[in-house]
Amino acid sequence: MFDLVISGGTVVDGTGRAGYRGDIGIKGERIEAVGDLSKAEAKRRIDAMGLTVSPGFIDTHTHSEGALLVDPQHANGVRQGITTEFLGIDGMSYAPLSAYNFKTYRHWLGGLLGDPPEDLDMQSVAAFRRHYHKKISINTAYFVPHATVRLQSLGFHDKPLRGEALETAKKLTREGLEQGAIGFTTGGKYYPGPWGDTEEIVELVKIVREAGKIYMCEPRKNVVAHAFGGGGVVEGMEVARRSGAKLHFAHYRTQPESAGNIPAIMGPIDAARTKDSDVTFDIYPYPSGSSIAVSLLPAFAQEGGPAEILKRLRDPSERKKIVAYLDRDEKPMLAMIILGYMPMAPEMEGTRLTDLAAKRGRTPGEALCEVLVEQNLKVGHVGAPPDSAAVRGRMDRDFMELIARPDYMVCSDITPAGRFPHPRSYGAFPRFLRLRREIGGISLEDMIHRMTDRPARRFGLKDRGRIERNAFADVAIFDAATVSDTSTYENPRSFPLGVPYVIVNGQVAVDNGTCTGVFAGQAIP
Ligand SMILES: [Zn+2]
Repeated sequence: MFDLVISGGTVVDGTGRAGYRGDIGIKGERIEAVGDLSKAEAKRRIDAMGLTVSPGFIDTHTHSEGALLVDPQHANGVRQGITTEFLGIDGMSYAPLSAYNFKTYRHWLGGLLGDPPEDLDMQSVAAFRRHYHKKISINTAYFVPHATVRLQSLGFHDKPLRGEALETAKKLTREGLEQGAIGFTTGGKYYPGPWGDTEEIVELVKIVREAGKIYMCEPRKNVVAHAFGGGGVVEGMEVARRSGAKLHFAHYRTQPESAGNIPAIMGPIDAARTKDSDVTFDIYPYPSGSSIAVSLLPAFAQEGGPAEILKRLRDPSERKKIVAYLDRDEKPMLAMIILGYMPMAPEMEGTRLTDLAAKRGRTPGEALCEVLVEQNLKVGHVGAPPDSAAVRGRMDRDFMELIARPDYMVCSDITPAGRFPHPRSYGAFPRFLRLRREIGGISLEDMIHRMTDRPARRFGLKDRGRIERNAFADVAIFDAATVSDTSTYENPRSFPLGVPYVIVNGQVAVDNGTCTGVFAGQAIP
């Protein structure tokens, strides 16, 4: 007797092979049988006639760790068909941190990760994992984050990791990997990470290589003086070359300026490739990103962490220097900022920073500093999409050209805090499935492979990512002909269409389009 049989659907098993008509029998956490189960007994049957039955989606890049601790249902993720999310991304997260450092970093990251309880034990990766294991709707896998390890080893300071501090960082990294982390991440702009230099990253990534795990790199761009080759992908390639580790670049795509020009982004990587290079990528299908306002402040303003940052922002002469930096650009970066998450002033969410500045009679830099003080640094932002429909269309085609490459996977980069998140938080995976229908360039089977089996193999998730006997029963059931995102930059909190059922470890997490409140997600692998 099966606990659950999914019958009559088209099974796209994750490996890339052609879909076929078949039933799936689930017992406990695992898939017990695949084939014709029309005569089998089952406690429950889901009729998947006309639907695609695939492995649950594995999301290689999210920032859900804070939100999951407040809202374990996580409807915006699981209703996309996502059954596993990677956490600890872009070099920053909550563990391993002492109680004091957790409070500090929770504050600095608040505009992005939200407001989890501040008394949680985050002292080790093992403790972190326990907060999620069988307590939320989806599976999670964790990376040891560089900025977190450096905060715990050295504090919020502009110094390279050397000597005792480096030894502490190495020990924390090694322990984190031993306690189940699947790799190590660095980020482009999350302090104190940008103060690290290439040397310290190489030393830490050597430990990653020894553990047989992966280095995930968000190319660095803030304090590039500390970074080999001026940061970016060139530094990532150099770290991989010198450490011998496998490398994965986070959300790597064209920008509005490089739309339609994929050689422009692949050129530097191809130039740095050696015969030993082992490089993969992921991508979310949107033309702009999302982050926190505090990360935009200059390096000198970050020294000492949140309390010192606020002190500087309140000091007129310090503030003047910060504003001069923020307003320096000929390229008006601040003009693209939409205020996204402001828990203490939700009525301002969705406002363009330049509109707020005009209303207050301030420059954008001054307005940003004011808002950061008013909101106690808790300000998330979303990048405005390019105005030109032609550029947006070209970027959609770029996403499809990139995901057609066998070295690419799909991610959401979920940044879920607040009423006005980036639309990817609700729609990334369905959006890719819709773009595939509209633009083409890749089969459904290959697209599913990029969302399931490919990341499972790459990151060592045992028995995940495939529909096959003995695999964990993580399953997404969707209508390939209609599945669509509905979230937009204007209306981001809108659930996708065409994903009626999602199964996590054999338990129904989404039932006929509705979240069930079953928390069967595990901290894996
Ligand atoms: Zn990210």
